[in-house]
Amino acid sequence: MFRTLHLATYAGLLTLGGLASSASAAELKAVASFSIIADFAKNVGGDRVEISTLVPVDGDTHVYEPRPADAAALEQADVVLVNGLQFEGFMSRLIETSGTTAPVIEVSKGIEPLKAAEEEHAHHEGEEHAKAGLDQDHKAEEHADAGDDHGHEGHHHHGEFDPHAWQSIHNAEIYVKNIADAFCEADKAGCATYTANSEAYLAKLGELETEIKAAINVIPQDKRTIITSHDAFGYFAHEYGLKFIAAEGLSTEAEASAADVARLVDQVKEEKASAIFVENITNPRLVEQIAGETGLKVGGTLYSDALSGEDGPASTYIDMFRYNVNTIKAAILGS
Ligand SMILES: [Zn+2]
Repeated sequence: MFRTLHLATYAGLLTLGGLASSASAAELKAVASFSIIADFAKNVGGDRVEISTLVPVDGDTHVYEPRPADAAALEQADVVLVNGLQFEGFMSRLIETSGTTAPVIEVSKGIEPLKAAEEEHAHHEGEEHAKAGLDQDHKAEEHADAGDDHGHEGHHHHGEFDPHAWQSIHNAEIYVKNIADAFCEADKAGCATYTANSEAYLAKLGELETEIKAAINVIPQDKRTIITSHDAFGYFAHEYGLKFIAAEGLSTEAEASAADVARLVDQVKEEKASAIFVENITNPRLVEQIAGETGLKVGGTLYSDALSGEDGPASTYIDMFRYNVNTIKAAILGS
């Protein structure tokens, strides 16, 4: 009896001191490229996995510039979790610099990737651009091989697929399973824990999906066109039946030109867009300009490529999804 109490107290003290007790000390060190993957990894890893996140909350992965601490984190990692689909443009050089030997897991593996939309291609390879010579940073060679999809994104460093796959809850479930597999592979003794944790979390994602679909269901079909600053919601649109139009393409890297903005303003009017939103990861200036020119009122902030900080409304993936949908609904339905 005494012994049990003593152990419990000991463990309690260690926890209070900010250290894990020896029984729950992290067995595994994982690095997640950005906050959304880190949240999945925390849910799967629990106390057994210590997670470092490279791109901070509210950060923009598309244009992220790594810090020296990032290379150090990678060097010490047992597992590295990345989105893949060419989302993390900074990653391959960072991995090389760090000298890490940890496996690098693309957690989007197995999802059905969406092709970069046709209008995306038109948007960036449009005639006006070519005629006006606006794509100055496009190299002639890149245009020369633009016959295949590779050339379409040019200076965006994007592939032929949309990388924002986490904006579908179904895909998030695949991310979670991939993370559980990666942790099981790296720490076989913990596999039962990772499996149990992931199953509990997957059940929550299942409930979230039901809730989200019900919430979107009440939005009338003719009010489902939404404007954002960059094209981060393709999977969301595909899965839940909303239409998103963005000023910028799949990456935030290239700024929208005056012609892009003018085209978007026309499109907003033609398609009778219902709402316009800023994003947590980008400067709101462009969206505010479009709002001003179209008479739409900015309906709030959507969390696209990163979670909020602890004090914000979207500090977990589940909260992010709920917050985005509630924000969209409130702006469209005015409630
Ligand atoms: Zn993005």
